[in-house]
Amino acid sequence: MKFETTEAVEAMRAEVCALHAELLRWGLVTWTSGNVSGRVPGTDYIVIKPSGISYDDLTPELMVVTDLEGNVLDGDLKPSSDAESHNHVYQLMPEVGGVVHTHSPYATAWAARAEPIPCVLTAMADEFGGEIPLGPFALIGSDAIGRGIVDTLKGHRSPAVIMQNHGVFTIGKNPKAAVKAAVMTEDVARTVHISRQLGEPVPIAQENIDKLYDRYQNVYGQ
Ligand SMILES: [Zn+2]
Repeated sequence: MKFETTEAVEAMRAEVCALHAELLRWGLVTWTSGNVSGRVPGTDYIVIKPSGISYDDLTPELMVVTDLEGNVLDGDLKPSSDAESHNHVYQLMPEVGGVVHTHSPYATAWAARAEPIPCVLTAMADEFGGEIPLGPFALIGSDAIGRGIVDTLKGHRSPAVIMQNHGVFTIGKNPKAAVKAAVMTEDVARTVHISRQLGEPVPIAQENIDKLYDRYQNVYGQ
């Protein structure tokens, strides 16, 4: 059956394309590394960055539309080499509408040490509800990365996981939320790293983490 695009698919193409500029703006990516994807709401269509295209050259039309198995439905280019990991998350976490992957430097430095980022900032309690967890070492080219992401994030408050020796994957209810989580991950990774240089950061008591998380998720904002 031939794929017929819709307004929703084209809107997601534009949104996913525009969000890649945020990865550059916040210093999360180098060269062509990093990628954003989004699920077209109410469908099994995934829109993702094409593989190996410079950020400056990305346009909505170049975004690739696939199904949950990664079959290309629409687009002239190959999807990102991380598409399989994104798809694995969409398959097993139906509540997820956006996935982001970066090798942002401070967070990836934690990944290189195989160390979760401890919850020592109120902003971390707000956004992540605790530590940013560490996922397993996994080679690209199988579903091992996707399984590691899902196994780590399922049942965890954090929308971000640091994959050992690799980098950051974040999830959100839409691609923008996943990008925000990637930006905040790098921000707290940097601050906690700096704090570490001068001594041992002080943990926040679990009951206070719970209070901060609840307030931020349910009360804060407009
Ligand atoms: Zn990567």
